[in-house]
Amino acid sequence: MKLQFLGGAEEVGRLGLLLKNEGASMMLEYGFKIVSKDPAHPAIKKAPEFPIESPPVDNALLTHCHIDHSGMMPWLSGRYGTKIYGTPISMAVSELLYYDSLKIADSEGFPRPYNEEDIEAAMREFRPIRFGETLDIGGFEVKAHSAGHVPGATMFELKGDKTTVFTGDLNTYNSRLVYGAHPVKCDNLIIESTYAGRPQRDRQKEEQRLVDKVKEVVERGGRAIIPCFAVGRTQEVMLLLKNLKYDMWVDGMGKTVSRMYLDMPEYLRNEKDLRYAKKIFKEVRTASTREKSMKADVIVTTSGMLDGGPVLRYLMQERENRKSAVLIPGYQAEGSNGRMLLDRRQVAVETEVIGERDIIDVKCEVERFDLSAHADHNELLRFIRACDPTNVVFMHGDNREILADELESEMNTFTPMNGKEFEL
Ligand SMILES: [Zn+2]
Ligand SMILES: [Zn+2]
Repeated sequence: MKLQFLGGAEEVGRLGLLLKNEGASMMLEYGFKIVSKDPAHPAIKKAPEFPIESPPVDNALLTHCHIDHSGMMPWLSGRYGTKIYGTPISMAVSELLYYDSLKIADSEGFPRPYNEEDIEAAMREFRPIRFGETLDIGGFEVKAHSAGHVPGATMFELKGDKTTVFTGDLNTYNSRLVYGAHPVKCDNLIIESTYAGRPQRDRQKEEQRLVDKVKEVVERGGRAIIPCFAVGRTQEVMLLLKNLKYDMWVDGMGKTVSRMYLDMPEYLRNEKDLRYAKKIFKEVRTASTREKSMKADVIVTTSGMLDGGPVLRYLMQERENRKSAVLIPGYQAEGSNGRMLLDRRQVAVETEVIGERDIIDVKCEVERFDLSAHADHNELLRFIRACDPTNVVFMHGDNREILADELESEMNTFTPMNGKEFEL
């Protein structure tokens, strides 16, 4: 079979892998990312970066809802009527994020990548696949496995003459929200490498460090603001903090995602724990609850990279208060507001002019924690060896070569570039 990355090979974001096999073609993921237009002034004016334009394809496999994997599916379905295969929870949360992307495009002043009708087409063309289930798709027997990244995140096993596994985003660690992924024996393994070359993390230590810091901040009379991605991280942090006896609130899109997870609890590691955490954390819904949440001890809120959403309101209130802290448990991309906050203790806040922002100094404490939902370097190595492939293809990372070099003597390693066709 012939393969070609349309994006996301040597980078994190805008992933798309076109697969051609005996006349049939299929897309694996099709996403976009939003980047800063002017690297010298991060967080000022954002623009989308799209993958290479896809030719017509009948079928697409979607591993999970994150926009850099799912974001361009409506474009495919709207234009070509492409069928999209994924877990029902991936599709439900994707729909939420698609409409949110339109809002982001409008507020940043860049053209919408697709319109409402395209989103409706994507939902119409959606075909559910559940973990353990096998479907005939584009000449392959396709089986879905859990990828452990967020609830419903899927690893696809494609059986033809050879067996090919595509991991999407992968986590082998049992998080509080979802069990880690198990290796699948295969001939070809196409695997993400976000954390290639990064030193091993100590997850439990990081979790404890965050809990301790929250306690420290609240005990000294401050507020702990925890910016979290709506999908996965919000719920993970709620589960981590649920036993603290503080006034704790959750704001932003994470509330809706929690509800969706509880509507489809089969993707959760422990439904009861999430129900309990959801009861402990009060939800901001109306103006009066928002007023109360502004006085909370702990606020878990979107957006995860501080590029918008309610987090900025809390930050603006607390930015001069040295007793308070912004505790950042997620990855902060180059050019994001969160990265600027970590590097320069500044954030960009919207002005009246669409796409324009003011730069504001932040004086409260800022601290970063690593609660990543990706396998780290050693976990990736262990996972690859356990899958025991003949060929391993690294994608979704800017340090892929480190992994490839380490495995070179054991298997064929590939680090293809975007746009270049290769064969397996
Ligand atoms: Zn992801
Ligand atoms: Zn990803």
